[in-house]
Amino acid sequence: MEPFVLEQTTSLLRLAAWEEQFPGLVAGFTTRIGGVSTAPYASMNCGLHVGDDIQAVVRNRRNLSSLLHFPFEGWTCADQVHGNHITFVESAEKGRGRNSLEDALAASDGLVTAEKDILLASFYADCVPLLVIDPVKRVIGIAHAGWKGTAAIISQKIVESITERFGSHRQDIRVAIGPSIGSCCYEVDDRVVDQISVQLVGEKEDWLVSKGQGKYQIDLKLVNYYLFIQAGIHPEHILQSSWCTSCRNDLFFSHRADGGKTGRMAAFLGWRDEV
Ligand SMILES: [Zn+2]
Repeated sequence: MEPFVLEQTTSLLRLAAWEEQFPGLVAGFTTRIGGVSTAPYASMNCGLHVGDDIQAVVRNRRNLSSLLHFPFEGWTCADQVHGNHITFVESAEKGRGRNSLEDALAASDGLVTAEKDILLASFYADCVPLLVIDPVKRVIGIAHAGWKGTAAIISQKIVESITERFGSHRQDIRVAIGPSIGSCCYEVDDRVVDQISVQLVGEKEDWLVSKGQGKYQIDLKLVNYYLFIQAGIHPEHILQSSWCTSCRNDLFFSHRADGGKTGRMAAFLGWRDEV
């Protein structure tokens, strides 16, 4: 069953199972619908780094915060560089990057916090969003995994960051692998496949279909699933979306389907302070 459920009234995808099981948790993924940006960013562009009007993006972000009943002051995001660096977010970092790119946390594709009222946000147009929680220690993390971040095992880095910093037990950690480009639409060359293969020695090769002449179709969500299994996450604690951002270009921005110049969806994860 698809874990990222489209909410018709808001056009947001909600990670319903987590939000129901863990009161106060806000978790999900935006679509391209419901914002104020104009083409080629129409309309719910949440990314400040793609050339859209800054005021429109901030308005989209504010609208999202109000739909989530989450104070915009807590929206915190980073400058994403297709790496594997994880940044810890505490009260000093709260709110960074919400109004301007210059203010965003530097060069990070993963964010982790144990604080309430911080909404971790990261941005996507085909790459894979990874959402991670330890409900026992009340730690949350979010990671941006394109093929480079996937090959650089940002999935395993964020698990390690959480266990080392907060003493989390791997058997307590839950993971959700969000909407991204599917293997149906994602053709790559052997340079990409080689860098991922070395991380998956001994695993099944069902993430990979050869098209001949050095071309392959790959399933990045499944690759990240295997990497989380290797990291000691229980299979029953891993949710995986089946949405393809390229097939459903009506619903999502897609770098490939839109020819490069397009908006970004936001993955969001935060503990609301309900006291
Ligand atoms: Zn597709």
